[in-house]
Amino acid sequence: MLDACVNSIRDEGLNKNLLLASTGIILAELDYLNQGLGMTLYSIPGSNLVASALTTADMKRVYSGTFVKSKGTRGLYDQLKAAPKNDVCPLCAQRTVSTLDHYLAQAIHPTLTVVPLNLVPACAECNKLKLDYQPTSEIQQSFHPYFDDFDDAQWLVAEVVETSPAAVRFSVSAPAGWNATKISRAASHFETFRLASLYASHAGVEISNIRYSLERVASSGTADDVRLLLSDRAESARRAQLNAWQTATYQALAASDWFCSGGFRA
Ligand SMILES: [Zn+2]
Repeated sequence: MLDACVNSIRDEGLNKNLLLASTGIILAELDYLNQGLGMTLYSIPGSNLVASALTTADMKRVYSGTFVKSKGTRGLYDQLKAAPKNDVCPLCAQRTVSTLDHYLAQAIHPTLTVVPLNLVPACAECNKLKLDYQPTSEIQQSFHPYFDDFDDAQWLVAEVVETSPAAVRFSVSAPAGWNATKISRAASHFETFRLASLYASHAGVEISNIRYSLERVASSGTADDVRLLLSDRAESARRAQLNAWQTATYQALAASDWFCSGGFRA
């Protein structure tokens, strides 16, 4: 990445300064790797200089003026962006990836501006919601897709709200086997990216989309037949993605006597 940036920068002064700062950037990347594995990225101190002559503004120029745009580096940018399956943002697990997010903000950590480990594919909305957010403790750290596994247990759950039309409310549960820090991090991630309202909106559309199917089942069957259909959908969604809003939604709908026995008609 550094070589590609250095080779693509036209401004000779900037080029020379980036080259001089290379060793410092590589050492910062090694430190980032260690802190990432130890879940202590929050403890990396911020700075407004990369090396004596290279400022935060200079690194923004390297990123926006060269790394994102230049022929010699754009392939690397696109490669990082293309990592998630189906182009789905790993932060909200819903919207399409459209950018790279600096996990530790470039305004606070200019040294990490073009360090690949710090560049996470994201949708524009998640990128905007995080902005220059700087975690100050382990529990404030949102998920880092390169270091974390938050899909080893179900933490996203939902409950039916008995309104007309029926709705679903999402929250974070405490999976058995998770320590308090991991649970708090899931809650912090859920809040930072405003997942409750994002998922509630999609679940609302889903509930109106399945109404016709449920009415057909209910017209010749019982509430248990409706529940069976919903449980089947929940299991199918769960097998595809444990912590998807679809999984939590169908589980909640299947578990609701009110919904299965006619609440879906409301
Ligand atoms: Zn997103």
